[in-house]
Order: sequence, then C-alpha cells, then structure tokens
Amino acid sequence: MVIDFHTHTPTWRTTSWLGGAPFDADDFVAFMDSAGIEQAVVLSHDGLFDASPQANDDLAAFVGRYPDRLHGFGTVHPRRDDAAEETERMMRTLGLRGLKLHPWLQGFSMHEGSLDPVCEVLVATGGILLSHDGTPPYSTAAQIAALARRHPHLPVVLGHGGLHDTWREALAVTVETPNLYLCLCGTPPYAARHILAHAPEGKVLFGTDAGLSDRASQDYAVARVAEIDGWGITPEQRQAMLEENPRALLAGTR
Ligand SMILES: [Zn+2]
Repeated sequence: MVIDFHTHTPTWRTTSWLGGAPFDADDFVAFMDSAGIEQAVVLSHDGLFDASPQANDDLAAFVGRYPDRLHGFGTVHPRRDDAAEETERMMRTLGLRGLKLHPWLQGFSMHEGSLDPVCEVLVATGGILLSHDGTPPYSTAAQIAALARRHPHLPVVLGHGGLHDTWREALAVTVETPNLYLCLCGTPPYAARHILAHAPEGKVLFGTDAGLSDRASQDYAVARVAEIDGWGITPEQRQAMLEENPRALLAGTR
C-alpha cells in the first residue's frame, strides 16, 4: 500500500515548462495502479501559475471522479483580496482537503500577514497546508516552519523534504515544530535514510511528484517508488511513511 502525498494534475489552461499533453482522472488512476499507488494527494498545476477559482474547480472535477483514491489540494494567491474566501469555498463547497502553496513560483514570502486569514480558514475547515520547499530564497523550510508556528493547530507539510540543498534544515525544523510534517519527494536517498532515522514518529510522508509532463512520461514517478527498496530503511519505517502517517494526517487524527 502506497499513499502518495505529492502528485499533480495535468496542465489544462496554462502553459509551463512542466506541462504536457493533458490526461484525465481515469488515465491517472490507471497509472497509479501500474505504479502500486493506492491513494494520492493531487495538487493543482495550473493554479500555481494562475491561482484562479477555475483552477480549483478543475482540480475538484478531476479528483471527484475517484473520491476514495484522490485527495485534492487547491491553491490561492495570498495577496489577492479573495484568498481567504476562495480557501473557504475550496474546502466547504468543492470538498478539497487542503491548500498547496509554491511561494517561489507564486512570488510571495511565507512571512506575509495575508497568509494568516487563509490559515485560519484551513484550521476551521480541517484542511492541511502543503508548501513547496527546498529552493531559496523563498520556500525554505525555516520560513515555512515559522508560518506553522504561528498556526499551531494547522498541519503543515514540507512538500519536498528540503530537496538536495536544505534537507538538514527541513529535518531540524520538523523536529522542533509539532505541527510540521515532511514529505520525501525528490529528496536524495542518503538524506531520506537519515531523515527517517531521526524524525519524530508520525512525521514523514512520501511523494513522487507524479503528473508533471504528460501521460507517457511518468517513468520518473514509478522509479521513485521503486527507489525506496534501496534506501536501507526498516519495514516499520516504510510502513509508517507510505501508509500510517499519511492516512492519519488525512483523517485528521494527527
Ligand atoms: Zn510538485
């Protein structure tokens, strides 16, 4: 059983260097079956380039085809006047499960006060905040941890476990911040092994970043699942990361 905590919708309305030919939810679930992924957190792609209500509607329609397997995290731009209102609509009306932010791509700092009302809506609606991390100057783990500490009842996930350059910082702030979680996604194997050995119980998740580019180019995501076998981790660590921790977080029991 694998619960993949970091995947993306295809590109529908924007053009980006990450985009490719669109695929539908049936295609995506067929891919998940082939890769041994039971459930996935699905993040908006178009919304990161243009944080419109339409992008959240598109995401909701995609995950709504498989409500038991796909969990949608929409997005907003925190500097827009309607950010908190759209977060509320996304959670209560569209049935999404959380918010994805990409401070570097979207061009804001996690220290901006406009994020506070958005976080308050997420707490009130039982949502999870997942942020891109690992790419300074915006999107460092310490900046994201500072936001998490301002909102101690909001579960906050580092979407990439610090990537190659900042994984030590990602681990350190995850240890120090009770409501901060870390998703190993693109984190190098030696770092993943170290993080799993030192992170508090219940804190580590796993993601593939599947869904970027087009349907025929998902080999990288399959490889990321297969790669875990070479990490040298215990069966208990594996089980916690792939199943117990994400299940508990999505159920709101952590
Ligand atoms: Zn991603």
